[in-house]
Amino acid sequence: MQKFKRILLKLSGESLQGEQGYGIDVKRLNEYATQIKDALSMGVQVAIVIGGGNIFRGLTGAGKGFDRVKGDQMGMCATVINSLALSSALGAQGVKSQVFTAIRMEPIGKFYNKWDAIAAMERGEVVIVSCGTGSPYFTTDTGSSLRGIELEADVMLKGTRVDGVYTADPEKDPTATKFDTISYDEVLQRGLRVMDITATAMCKENKLPIYVFNMDIVGNLQRVLSGENIGTLVHA
Ligand code: UDP
Repeated sequence: MQKFKRILLKLSGESLQGEQGYGIDVKRLNEYATQIKDALSMGVQVAIVIGGGNIFRGLTGAGKGFDRVKGDQMGMCATVINSLALSSALGAQGVKSQVFTAIRMEPIGKFYNKWDAIAAMERGEVVIVSCGTGSPYFTTDTGSSLRGIELEADVMLKGTRVDGVYTADPEKDPTATKFDTISYDEVLQRGLRVMDITATAMCKENKLPIYVFNMDIVGNLQRVLSGENIGTLVHA
């Protein structure tokens, strides 16, 4: 039984760097493309927002003396680079995709609007929405919440390198335990860093469920779409 008709998949830029610590790991990129291809073959409409942390983050730049707004613009450009890489990898596997940009930069991508993005998904294309929200001081998590809500996705699937939401960071605290489900309020009250506060609050206000899972294990996206409970559901 297929659970979702349309998904917003959030991929972190950091995961895309794989083991190499910076930039784009082609093996990881191709694995993502394969998983997305398999998701499409299940009849699911797929929109993707990808981060840029493997290349540049505005906040980190500001800490080194960069102007924050210019740094964030550099970060948004980084998401475009990752989006183009993913689109290219999908094309190599015979999957049609379209890159949209929240900031006008034709012919690199089409200037984003909801209706063209939905039309592309209805034609069976993967839609990759880059530049996050298009504004500084936001993150691609918030970009994902925004696009997920606008594009009327049934769920935001947040693909990370951990397998769900934990009581504490499982990479630092061995006693941390995983939630099967958790409410938006509890995420906010406990200060859990599933996503930033703005992104979580937007999902809460607009009732967009979030499913956090480990996207770095090949096959996991399909498992989630088949209804296997391998991650954490964040809900009302
Ligand atoms: N960014 C921004 N506005 C947005 C989305 C992203 O200014 O709406 C910038 C910001 O500098 C951010 C960078 O782009 O640090 C990369 O995005 P993010 O940190 O969310 O990437 P991820 O952590 O998912 O790799």
